[in-house]
Amino acid sequence: MKKIQMVDLGGQYQGIKEQVNTAISTIMESAAFINGPEVHAFQKDLETYLGVKHVIPCANGTDALQIAMMGLGLTPGDEVITADFTFAATVEVIALLQLTPVLVDVDPHTFNIDIDAIERAITPRTKAIVPVHLFGQCADMDAILALAEKHDLYIIEDNAQAIGADYTSKGGRKQKAGTIGHVGSTSFFPSKNLGAYGDGGAIFTNDDELAHTLRGIVNHGMYQRYHHDVVGVNSRLDSIQAAVLRAKLPKLDTYCEKRRDAARKYSEAFSGQGNIVVPVAANGCEGICDSCDCHVFHQYTLKITNGKRDALVEHLKEKNIPCGVYYPIPLHRQKAYIDERYNEIDFPVTNQLVQEVISLPMHTELDDEQIAFITETVIGFINE
Ligand SMILES: *Cc1c(COP(=O)(O)O)cnc(C)c1O
Repeated sequence: MKKIQMVDLGGQYQGIKEQVNTAISTIMESAAFINGPEVHAFQKDLETYLGVKHVIPCANGTDALQIAMMGLGLTPGDEVITADFTFAATVEVIALLQLTPVLVDVDPHTFNIDIDAIERAITPRTKAIVPVHLFGQCADMDAILALAEKHDLYIIEDNAQAIGADYTSKGGRKQKAGTIGHVGSTSFFPSKNLGAYGDGGAIFTNDDELAHTLRGIVNHGMYQRYHHDVVGVNSRLDSIQAAVLRAKLPKLDTYCEKRRDAARKYSEAFSGQGNIVVPVAANGCEGICDSCDCHVFHQYTLKITNGKRDALVEHLKEKNIPCGVYYPIPLHRQKAYIDERYNEIDFPVTNQLVQEVISLPMHTELDDEQIAFITETVIGFINE
């Protein structure tokens, strides 16, 4: 059996080696390392793939979120509601801009932001909601759009984990994750579903004026050379990363399908196991949806309900099966984000999830032998 990895980027590279190597050497020859034609070409390719008017490439997914918030003109003291159960980058940029983060609980089945909790957290100072499309599927965007309209709020989608996922609204309209709210962001960190060979990120919007503002902010607030109209940042996607991403983008749907395939096999093997809860696709789809791309499985995350999660992590380590606990501590209990406004009784779900979740190896190169070994090891240990 091949060595099991959490993410197998080396294996994936073998399938695209020629395209990637040619693309990179073309950049070397052209010496257009920053903002070269390759970055523009990737931007256009991604706009077409996502069906969005504007893609603004930048240096990483954290910058993308920050720049999106700067572009919307949010100012210190504005309250921004986001999920308590996510990677810290989301809340970090809110705090960094001196906006007020308002963390709320999540849904126990989808792990995504809880709609009732958002509603309870809205005050006259609330300016924006940041749904995080966690582990590869969209938050309940219909409900979030309705809340945003009712209370006149911006929606900034943190789409670092769900690029390529579809969201079908109740009216039947299908849109790509990250293109539904006012603005969306993503990350091209190597292990993300569309990963570069270094850092990268992008912002998406259908709003022409906002896109113009964002393009200036990523480039030192410059709209005309050496005229700095607003305070900006330096956040660029380099041409080599753009070339890698351009070679990989045509494969993204196949990559997502391979992830979904692995997820399906995992869930089949775990079915009927009382102490193991498998991930569900929400968005009106049952189980792991066969007919659409509503879940792209950035992570395959189980809940272990008999208190053996930590012991399972240790056991898998001994068996050379990598795994991850995303996330072990709710953000409202992280030192940097503790706030007296938070009340433990408002976070029953995240407080439980941090004790129960475990993410198994998930990537495009998993084979049946590996999946069988992983599932048999997990099931054997849980029932011991
Ligand atoms: C990865 C990630 C980010 C940050 O992306 P970087 O490119 O690492 O800065 C932000 N939000 C979420 C939910 C992520 O998973």
